[in-house]
Amino acid sequence: MHDRNVTYDVVVVGGGSAGVAAAVGAARMGASTLLLEKNPYFGGAATHSSVLTYCGFFAQQDPLLQVVGGVGNELLERLRRYGVYREPYRNPRTGNVIVPLDSELTKLALDDLVLQHRVTPLLHCQVIEVERSGDCVSTVIGYDHAGKLRISAQAFVDASGDADLSALSGAEVVQGSPEGMVQASTLVMRIGGVHPSVSLDKSIFEQAIQKAKQEGYHHLSKERGMLLRLPKSGDVLAMFADEDVDALQSAQLTKAEISARKQAWEYMDVFCKYIPGFENAYLVQTGPAMGVRETRHVLGNYILSGEDVVNGIRHDDAVARGGWPIEIHRPGKPAEYLSIKNQAYYDIPLRSLTVRGFKNLWCAGRIISCDALAFASVRVMGTAFATGHAAGVAAAYYAATKKYDVTAIRQELIQQGASI
Ligand SMILES: Cc1cc2nc3c(=O)[nH]c(=O)nc-3n(C[C@H](O)[C@H](O)[C@H](O)COP(=O)(O)OP(=O)(O)OC[C@H]3O[C@@H](n4cnc5c(N)ncnc54)[C@H](O)[C@@H]3O)c2cc1C
Repeated sequence: MHDRNVTYDVVVVGGGSAGVAAAVGAARMGASTLLLEKNPYFGGAATHSSVLTYCGFFAQQDPLLQVVGGVGNELLERLRRYGVYREPYRNPRTGNVIVPLDSELTKLALDDLVLQHRVTPLLHCQVIEVERSGDCVSTVIGYDHAGKLRISAQAFVDASGDADLSALSGAEVVQGSPEGMVQASTLVMRIGGVHPSVSLDKSIFEQAIQKAKQEGYHHLSKERGMLLRLPKSGDVLAMFADEDVDALQSAQLTKAEISARKQAWEYMDVFCKYIPGFENAYLVQTGPAMGVRETRHVLGNYILSGEDVVNGIRHDDAVARGGWPIEIHRPGKPAEYLSIKNQAYYDIPLRSLTVRGFKNLWCAGRIISCDALAFASVRVMGTAFATGHAAGVAAAYYAATKKYDVTAIRQELIQQGASI
């Protein structure tokens, strides 16, 4: 893009799970669509923080129940063609169903998906300002090494994970719960050289960490964390190094990243010392960036609640389904779960993807309008694909008609293969 002053039908800010789905959904309606991302690749937390398992594509129900179709499913099919996805994995203890990922092939699949649908990708560009005209956003200002770019559109989707676009637009946003609490951030560790016979039973690691704490290791947070063996490499992903941080602020994030890296090295020491099979283990990578679970949420025309989630409530204006249980991460504590009624799913209404006071702005992914308990479920990436897809279609429909028509948006989503 040589022109520093451009216009599209739809602009999507943030190229994580929600943003990619939003951009593809909009482009499939014929909208000229720009997908803006500050990182060098798409995927958000999956590729930039090594969160290498898609949750939320499937409900807990047995037999298997897929609750996210559409663009998200197109990505799964692409990963299947690459030979890195066959069947999802069901945890026999919890019933949770996940899709383990390969980081590099996920980046490639997302590039292919975006290009195949003629979305214009723009990486290495951060949105830093917004211009509005009454109750509409008119232009976003992106920033790269050459300076500012002015990007105008008929409709916008905020898929930034931090509600940057909404906050910059002056929309109502809240940070964390009403008490201002946010879920823990975690620096993911990728560990190589672990003997294939090592069991990833959480209690083995918990005992080792407790012993280490008694013996004077004092920079460890979580005792019971998530562990996963990656396909192909056999590397182990370990999510232990928690930090309680306001991740909107670089000064706080700096302290947290440095502290979490120190934790990661201390965890390595402990695992190698106390867990048989870790003798030759080494730290392949942290991050790259700290995994941030929660910052801002948008206030929309409906606030999805924890009650909606656990009771599997249906809505007339449903545009997506959530099938992941409520999963709460308090800093340093094990995850707490609350299941959805009948291990099934709940509806996500279009009203919770709107941004109060704005006509041409939608939100998607972990920032949608919801309370703290509902957030603990909707935040996962499978569900982010579903809300992103819906927000992209709603934005493209608005760009073409200047209307908000739930029936037409639902019809289009069904035609694009979404499960609603
Ligand atoms: C440690 C950890 C473990 C987790 N475990 C799981 C799990 O196992 N499975 C699961 O499904 N979910 C998990 N989650 C939750 C999940 O990763 C996120 O909630 C999810 O990624 C949200 O998707 P999103 O598209 O809304 O946001 P993100 O994935 O955060 O993507 C947002 C994108 O927007 C970009 N962006 C932000 N601001 C701007 C800007 N101003 N300009 C341009 N670009 C911008 C960012 O660079 C980013 O790429 C975990 C999260 C964490 C932190």
